[in-house]
Amino acid sequence: MHLFRRTLSSIRLPTRFWKSAHPRPTLTLLLSHRSPRHYFSSKACTGCNKAMPTQSSKLSYSEGGQLPSDAPSWAVAASERIREKMAKGLGTTAVPPEGVKRVLLHSCCAPCSGAMVEEMCASKVDEVVVFFYNPNIHPKKEYDIRKEENKRYCEKIGVTFIDCDYDSDNWYERMKGMEFDPERGRRCTECFDMRMERTALYAVENGFDAIATTNATSRWKDEKQVNGSGFRAAARYEGLKYWAYDWQTDEMTLRKYEISANERFYKQEYCGCSYSLRDSNDWRKANGIPKIQIGGESAGLGERYFTDPLVDAAEESQDVVDEFFAQANEIAEAGRDVKERKKRLSVYKDRRKNEAHDGINNGLNNW
Ligand code: SF4
Repeated sequence: MHLFRRTLSSIRLPTRFWKSAHPRPTLTLLLSHRSPRHYFSSKACTGCNKAMPTQSSKLSYSEGGQLPSDAPSWAVAASERIREKMAKGLGTTAVPPEGVKRVLLHSCCAPCSGAMVEEMCASKVDEVVVFFYNPNIHPKKEYDIRKEENKRYCEKIGVTFIDCDYDSDNWYERMKGMEFDPERGRRCTECFDMRMERTALYAVENGFDAIATTNATSRWKDEKQVNGSGFRAAARYEGLKYWAYDWQTDEMTLRKYEISANERFYKQEYCGCSYSLRDSNDWRKANGIPKIQIGGESAGLGERYFTDPLVDAAEESQDVVDEFFAQANEIAEAGRDVKERKKRLSVYKDRRKNEAHDGINNGLNNW
């Protein structure tokens, strides 16, 4: 995921997302301050014999805590639904495919895996194992940061973490000819296919009934595209299922950012591959925004770590995502024509300048 291509709060935050005049809500208003481990009851994992979350756990999301009075309406509505669910004694609404007991969950990073692991473990499955296979991530330094964080989190909550290969040469080979495709285009389909195929292979070799992916939790991703790859990969093996579900609900989003803030996860600033890094930096340059920083204590823009669930979630709101892709596609149409690319990028430079001159604030995209 690339939640942090922009940090709305750090430059000009569109009022539709957050009123900058108000103090940021603190976690005490929204959260229980209990680590995810607290939500789980212990049960030995069949793979590692460690305690792991189980179906008997009470999934609590935000535990119905009151939101700040100026919280965005989506969060208020989600919080209300969470309370209703809890009042009915429901742990989760996620239903695994029929007969599925062991799930191999492909994970792209810790922030995307937190809420999904909880939701799955609160369902009727017996075991969830996290599988890290992401040869797309570039450079290796960023790969190591994302992997190590995901591994640490799994160890903390007692979920088995499988560290697969970093066969980036194969990834580049497979992406040849698609280097200038836009995000959500052909290259991304191949990228998802490659990762899900490896996940499916490991699953059948190790007796799992189903596969799933954390890519499905992010609004930056095209859910249909992600699920398409999952279904195709599972269909290669008789009896293997792909667990499709709406992992992008507001409730899931709220929980996802609660965990991320609790754990102070690293904020990524781009999707992952060198092409998305290049395109995001091009865009930032056109908008006069500092370059993406790989690792270190400071991000290119905004905060380095997740700290505030509502503000962090706003960065992934549907409006922000839609605007990003509408503009990204305009640039991508230039393909590898460098001159045309520069011309298109300059359009945004001029647009921002004119907006500043006219005193208009249409919401700055902080890529
Ligand atoms: S932008 Fe790159 S890393 Fe992200 S899904 Fe597409 S190909 Fe994979």
